[in-house]
Formats: sequence, C-alpha cells, structure tokens
Amino acid sequence: MSDDKTSLCIRCPKGCRLTLLTGEDIKIKGHQCKIGEEYGKKEAIEPERVVPTTVKILGAKWPRLPVRTEKGVPLDKIEEVIDELRDLEINAPVKKGDIIVKNVADTSVDIISERDMEVKR
Ligand code: SF4
Repeated sequence: MSDDKTSLCIRCPKGCRLTLLTGEDIKIKGHQCKIGEEYGKKEAIEPERVVPTTVKILGAKWPRLPVRTEKGVPLDKIEEVIDELRDLEINAPVKKGDIIVKNVADTSVDIISERDMEVKR
C-alpha cells in the first residue's frame, strides 16, 4: 500500500511539483532531474529545512543578528532550535559565516552568522 504526498522541489527555480509514493519502496514522480529525485526521497523519509532567524547581539549598531542553520535540520527539531536561540546573547563583532552555536539542539548542525556586525562606535 502506498501513501501519496506532494512536495514542491525547491532545489532550482523550475519548482517541479513532486509526488512522493511512500509504500514499501519510495518512488518519486514529477521530477526533471536526479537532484529533484534525491530531494523527493529525502522529503519522503526525513524532511529537513534550513532555519533562518535572529539572535540578540550586544555592543553592535543593530540589536539583532541574522543567523541560520548551516544546513537543513529535521522538521521536528525546528522548535527546539528556535527555543535554544531565544535567550542567546552574543557580543559584537561578528563576521559573516562565524559559528554562533555548535551542534544546535543536538542536531550536529551549527548556527552561523548571515552577515558582518561591527562594534558600535
Ligand atoms: S526536479 Fe530538478 S528541475 Fe525540477 S525543480 Fe527540482 S532541481 Fe529543478
């Protein structure tokens, strides 16, 4: 027996609509390339998302620093990721790409800065 789901492939601007057939074997329909097929399989088994958010930064021109997970985390871990970052305070300066939190929410994924943030003068 299969359980059909649909998903939009977000790996390129074409945005192919995928059908995920998740019975004994996982089959993907609607993809136009191998990348989309692999994306669909991942979506069927363990969907992941990159999580963008902000954290409080002290001593900088702006009060919040844009950050994101360096790669996707499982959907059921997103709330834990946000919870762990909610009360975090870091100090300026920060460079784009700096690791802000290692292994956030025990996902083996780091949180990285999305931009430079100098010390306020
Ligand atoms: S299946 Fe391939 S062509 Fe279609 S959106 Fe995904 S990456 Fe792009």
